[in-house]
Amino acid sequence: MRRLLDSTRWRFVVCVAVSNLLSGLLSLFLWMPLASRILPPGHVLTPWIPMLFSIVLALPISSFVSRRSARPIQDMVEATKAISRGDYSVRVAETGTGDIAELLRSFNRMTAELGSTEMMRNDFINTFSHEFKTPIVSIRGFARRLRKGGLTMQQQNEYLDFIAEESERLSHLASNVLLISRYETQKLVGEQTVYDMDEQIRTCVLRLESQWSPRNLIFEVNLPHLPCRNNMEMMEHVWMNLIGNAIKFSRDGGVIFLDGKKENARITVSIRDEGIGIRPEDQKHIFDKFYQGDSSHAAEGNGLGLALVQRIVELSGGTIEVESSPGKGSTFRLTLPQDCGAEDSHTPGSWP
Ligand code: ADP
Repeated sequence: MRRLLDSTRWRFVVCVAVSNLLSGLLSLFLWMPLASRILPPGHVLTPWIPMLFSIVLALPISSFVSRRSARPIQDMVEATKAISRGDYSVRVAETGTGDIAELLRSFNRMTAELGSTEMMRNDFINTFSHEFKTPIVSIRGFARRLRKGGLTMQQQNEYLDFIAEESERLSHLASNVLLISRYETQKLVGEQTVYDMDEQIRTCVLRLESQWSPRNLIFEVNLPHLPCRNNMEMMEHVWMNLIGNAIKFSRDGGVIFLDGKKENARITVSIRDEGIGIRPEDQKHIFDKFYQGDSSHAAEGNGLGLALVQRIVELSGGTIEVESSPGKGSTFRLTLPQDCGAEDSHTPGSWP
């Protein structure tokens, strides 16, 4: 900024000097030949007239030169007004050299960035509204059908079950959206507790029993003692989502492997299933909000789980990666610092 102000000041000084020089030269070359013809030699007005002449000429010249040099700034003022009205398509001409040119380029980059953020926000609102509307429409349909009457007891129960399921879906969607927006604004991992991560993962498997037990899924759990300091509530969302997905995308009777290890004050946990797998083109997007490999919504979900998991892992200073082959299964591998609160959570040796 200081450099920019300096260069603007220099531009102004150069403008004034150039306009003075031009007007001086013009008055010299125009007036001097005229003076010798019009005024007698040594007339009292001879030295004054070039000065007046130079002032009169300097005014339009300096106004032209300064308007030219102020043009990029004026363009930017106009563009800023357009942005404040919500028009992010506006761009300024990238003219000139040096700091002004750099400023114009940065300005255009900024508006492009703002435009794409706005597009993402609009996309999010559109998808969110769509995801919300679908269950509401079916709840309304079933409720109307029930009010009409004339249904058997079995039909009534079926419709009531649909209503309960769709309400559950809505409530799940709302809580995931709230969690994502909360964690996206959060900069730190938040309240931390010292606890055993292996125990937490086992508890999540038990909590999901109603989903895996009727489908005869088997868990092969190989978790050593994994003491850690982290945000328990957040990490619970991670395991519930990853194990929930492994269950959801496994074939009946399949095996889910949970492995863990600690090394250099970092914990690695992998969740492997032998389910349907993820196509390479889908793997790039599975962490995007609302992305579902199967857009038919045949498998229940809302495409927010992995976006939430990724954000939590990021907040904890960890990483998550996926390996998958369609038809063979998927492995999600997480690496987390054992102590999220440590100044440098990569420092080895501070944890048992
Ligand atoms: P949801 O499961 O609610 O659809 P997620 O964000 O958890 O949303 O997952 C996004 C997508 O990633 C899923 O729709 C699915 O296509 C794919 N996916 C995630 N986990 C697995 C898995 N273990 N096996 C196969 N596909 C998976």
